[in-house]
Amino acid sequence: MKTFIITGAVWHGVGSGIRHTYFNYVDQVTRHINVIFHRQLPSFCGRLNPTASSQLSRCVTVCRSYATLDKRYSRPSNLLVENCSTTVTGFITTRNKSRRRNKNKLETNEKLLQLLNTMPKKVDVKVLQEARLAKKQRIKKYPPSTVYLQVLGSGAPGAPRSLYVFTEHARYLFNCGEGCQRMAYEHKVKLSMMEHIMVTHKSWQNVGGLPGLLLTLQDTGVPEITLHGPPGIETLYFDTRHFIRFRNLNISYNHYTSNDGKFGSKEDPLSIQYVPLWATTMSNSEEEAEVKENLEVKTEAGHDTTASQVSTSAGNLNGTEECVDYYAHERGNGKRTGGDGAAVMAKRPKKEESVLTRNLAVAYICQPPPKAGALILEKCVKFGVPPGPLLGELKRGNDVTLPNGNVVRACDVTNPDDPGPVFIVVEAPSKAYLESLLASPQFLPYQSTAQSDADLAEVVVHFTSMEVVEDPRYQEWMARFSPSTQHILINDQNTCMGSEAIHRIQYKLNLLSPSLFPLLQDKSLPLKDSLDSDLLRRDSNCVLPEKAMQDNVNCGSEVNDGNKSLETSHKHITGPVTKGRTLLTYYLRPRKKLQREIGTIIDPKTYIQECYDNEGFEEALKAFKDSVGELKESSGEEHPHIVFLGTGSCIPNKTRNTSGILLNLSLDKSLLLDCGEGTYGQMVRYYGIQGADKLLQNLSAIYVSHLHADHHIGLINLLLARRKAFQKMQVSKVPPLVLLAPSRIMNYLSSYHANFEDILENISLTPNHKFLTSRQDVEKEAHKELCHTLDMKAVDMTYVEHCPNSFGVALTHTNGWKVVYSGDTMPCKGLVDIGQDCDLLIHEATMEDELLEDALIKTHSTTSQAIQIGVEMKAKHIILTHFSQRYAKVPLLSDTVPANVGIAFDNMKVGLQDLPNLHYLYPAMVAMFAEDYDEMLDKTAKKKAARALAQKEELEVEMLDKTTKKALAQNVDLDAELSKTEKKAVQASMQKELDGETRGKGLGS
Ligand SMILES: [Zn+2]
Ligand SMILES: [Zn+2]
Repeated sequence: MKTFIITGAVWHGVGSGIRHTYFNYVDQVTRHINVIFHRQLPSFCGRLNPTASSQLSRCVTVCRSYATLDKRYSRPSNLLVENCSTTVTGFITTRNKSRRRNKNKLETNEKLLQLLNTMPKKVDVKVLQEARLAKKQRIKKYPPSTVYLQVLGSGAPGAPRSLYVFTEHARYLFNCGEGCQRMAYEHKVKLSMMEHIMVTHKSWQNVGGLPGLLLTLQDTGVPEITLHGPPGIETLYFDTRHFIRFRNLNISYNHYTSNDGKFGSKEDPLSIQYVPLWATTMSNSEEEAEVKENLEVKTEAGHDTTASQVSTSAGNLNGTEECVDYYAHERGNGKRTGGDGAAVMAKRPKKEESVLTRNLAVAYICQPPPKAGALILEKCVKFGVPPGPLLGELKRGNDVTLPNGNVVRACDVTNPDDPGPVFIVVEAPSKAYLESLLASPQFLPYQSTAQSDADLAEVVVHFTSMEVVEDPRYQEWMARFSPSTQHILINDQNTCMGSEAIHRIQYKLNLLSPSLFPLLQDKSLPLKDSLDSDLLRRDSNCVLPEKAMQDNVNCGSEVNDGNKSLETSHKHITGPVTKGRTLLTYYLRPRKKLQREIGTIIDPKTYIQECYDNEGFEEALKAFKDSVGELKESSGEEHPHIVFLGTGSCIPNKTRNTSGILLNLSLDKSLLLDCGEGTYGQMVRYYGIQGADKLLQNLSAIYVSHLHADHHIGLINLLLARRKAFQKMQVSKVPPLVLLAPSRIMNYLSSYHANFEDILENISLTPNHKFLTSRQDVEKEAHKELCHTLDMKAVDMTYVEHCPNSFGVALTHTNGWKVVYSGDTMPCKGLVDIGQDCDLLIHEATMEDELLEDALIKTHSTTSQAIQIGVEMKAKHIILTHFSQRYAKVPLLSDTVPANVGIAFDNMKVGLQDLPNLHYLYPAMVAMFAEDYDEMLDKTAKKKAARALAQKEELEVEMLDKTTKKALAQNVDLDAELSKTEKKAVQASMQKELDGETRGKGLGS
């Protein structure tokens, strides 16, 4: 019997599909072999799928520490795992690369070659998805025993609005406002079992978080998402596909008229009924009638495949629009996993449907399946039921006769059946929808007119704005529900921003310098110190309408909400009304109803204590204060100054949002450099609602450096908020905002304008390329105009080295100061040219120096590269930003960072006079976030070791290849061919790997 070793490298970063493949390989090449894994065996066994484990009947490990690791993992019972020290007779090295190498080299052995050729080349996602589906079918047999609704985003200005519905079988999301994924991430709301996203109306506040969320869902391995709502919501998906990579996520769309307006059967975790609500408008009622008629005819015909439940191959995607691939550079390097364009996507909806259904809202009537009441064992004992089959009968609802002749009725020993409580999600986007709402008969069976109490709606969640809620007609509709029905409002009159993490870090940084890190103006969460009084108020969380409307129940003490309109009394409504706040939970099953837990609070004392708990922090803080002398306690009025709103790359994490840099030029002029998802939310947190309004009115221009989502997806929200800010001032004609961006951004904005909401009249685009140094003679007028708008002497742009149409910019003010912003780029000569002698260079530094290779692949810069550009530019000061998500707190810098370099943080405010002090912050920050910092150092060390190991292994592979080749050719025992030195080398490398494997997973990409 031969014993083979599968070396550890295979478990690094490959999916189980590949592992599976190797079992095929091993099984077919040498039957009845022992397979030795020396690494990660336990975790691997824990994850073995049934097919793989059946192919591998015997598994031996030489790893000594296995015995201790073993306990943490379960493993398939049919797999025999032994500890052994058998002689090693051969190696199958399973590195991806070496496999390919084998393929090229082992020409001598035809059998082996044949096998290698028949091995699947790609990770078989299908197999995994099938397994997932099978599991789902298994649990689907039982109705869910836990069903709850949870407010994820309250809908407050700057906060997302979204309702999360949990069942054990699947998760649902109703609306997905901008910032949803960040909120879900902070509050550990699991997205991996998400299956359906319902949209009530086509507006940014309902879909703004969708592109980002879909991306996150894909990364968590969700195979398919179904979108529900008005036709055309999926256009968002189409329009973002150039700058968001969807690979293995299937998106299908369910038409609101399909299947009689119903979705889900009795076995599904939720059965859903769609209720279309049409706006009554004067202008296009004829067209609308036609569309409505068409939609309905299709349903009757029952074979509409154009818009309902469609998913087609991505091959059809290349429509008429341009198809610039902003991620081509990454693919070119072969680093991309998954099949190219493997995602299956919904078809683009017909344009007229999509456009006209802007006047359509969809409400959802939802019901979990009924569940039989549980057996009450105490009662069974009381009635004298013996253990055994009779209990089963009772559980099934059948009456039984005991041996002594007594009859026990099932209803006497079980809890009552749960018929499945109904909840309704509704939005009337404006008063124009009220007529339709009042006329919709679908709600009647769940209102006071219900046939039985069990049919009465348990909860109604309103995404309707307060202005409409207060309309007497809406009140009339609400009054039709039973007094027992709970109403939850998720709209812009709420104030809960929902995030604690952002405050936590700001309180800490504020210790270093209150002027650089002022406390946030967002007062929507209660402070722990004032909690006693809060608790009293909170206790009245679920109150009668008059009180609920008057009381800003859910949020902290100093809410600046201007909620006068709330004070109108609502005499009609008879049920309890509660304002939504993040994590407010309503349990439908088990029926625990509204949960009154405190939820998120701000606890400054604890945050500060956390800092001082770090060894050396106090000294570092003192050293910092000594170095900078007296940092001016600035009032924020000096100009120019910069507020960093987002300093992370790719997707937002708890403490760093995606790119957004606010350049406040003067009291009434500001320029925003890039605008990632959630930028408006960041503004509201930093400035408060009124402050953000004022800022938006003073915003002279937005500059978008390139079309990656993390630099511009927040734009639409900002435009809408800006329009609102002007409308609050009774300004009827909102001046268009100067948008400096790659011209292709208009494809996306125009499509949104056509399919969702009007936005174009609020934008005046001047394409970035007009400001290229080479073009400025030709574009004199545009240049002059922009300089005038921004009080600049010069605005210079240059192409940088990132994706197509990426720009860097240099701004020279009439007062003489000069600021340069790199956008995303590798080290770029053009930027050096336009940035000469600037006062400040803001440069991306996505990666630490150790990850040079990754930086290259993703066309980003390392910290040292960014600093080098500053040196070449002769920049007086450099601020690094756009850090990879692995540096959530502090990035790793080399020891030789020059004294003019600082690190950007979210919510950091920097004036020109602060620049010399920034350098001293870093040591204090390292002390403050010591734990994170150490972990990062660890990861880097590990990465270094892994790289060294990989190089070594490659050498070994080459060596072993030779041996194997020879042995196979001569058909001799491999063991005899392996020299002692080779064995030793491998064993040493094993040990080294094991030593390195003390911490969690490797770095993400
Ligand atoms: Zn970026
Ligand atoms: Zn980018």
